[in-house]
Amino acid sequence: MTGSDALEALLSRVAASYDGAAFFSPDELDKWPKAVVATFKKARLLSAATPATSTSCDGCERYCHMPVEIVSRAGRSAAFVLCDKENGINRVDVPLDRLERWQASGEAIAAHLARELGVNRPVSASTQAKRWEVGRLRSKRVEPVALTIGDQGLAVEVAGYSVRLDEVLWWKAGRLELDRQGLSAFVDNPASVPTGRTDLAARVAEIDAAIVDNRRRGVPAPVETAVKAFRMTRQRLSQMRKTLEKRKGVNVDVNPC
Ligand SMILES: [Zn+2]
Repeated sequence: MTGSDALEALLSRVAASYDGAAFFSPDELDKWPKAVVATFKKARLLSAATPATSTSCDGCERYCHMPVEIVSRAGRSAAFVLCDKENGINRVDVPLDRLERWQASGEAIAAHLARELGVNRPVSASTQAKRWEVGRLRSKRVEPVALTIGDQGLAVEVAGYSVRLDEVLWWKAGRLELDRQGLSAFVDNPASVPTGRTDLAARVAEIDAAIVDNRRRGVPAPVETAVKAFRMTRQRLSQMRKTLEKRKGVNVDVNPC
């Protein structure tokens, strides 16, 4: 499990949730690299949630799922479930740490994006489900940025574009990175037709065409010049290529014909 895998797991769990909030048990987080979990907690992408109010019972053979009862005695808490599935079992103790939960949410991700972009969240945030206003991003122009959950999973909406979140937020060299430059480029070049999502393959093809054109015209440093014209870096371009490769790989597995 790498940092990228962990980020993907976190984002896809939030995307799949019915209300934009997802929970992780300590057991699950133990399988993620410690430094990654620490970074997620520091970035508040993971925060301590209220303890689980129900759990599976260890006392019977049916692992029944039961509400948790908590009692406090002499300053110490104990948790148990009352199993009614088999005779003579009754009270089954539950270790308290098993009730611990960590939460990830669209709201927390939107707050993280706002901090990274240095923008203020709107005071009267929209109450629309699965949509979180991030704030107004200033570049040569100013455009509102929002985080949404749609059929593509988590996406960032800006200037008439809808970009998959994992195309602008990634784990790299031990840290979370947000493609602020890429988002600013959207702000400066709003979509003429507010359609929707940009196609990664189409963007890479556009840049490739510019590189070919630069070579043909004998422009010095043709790649560097092309990526600069698109307000990005060579690093970002190679990352986009890798994402495309990965997706192609997935497609081949899903559809072998
Ligand atoms: Zn039981």
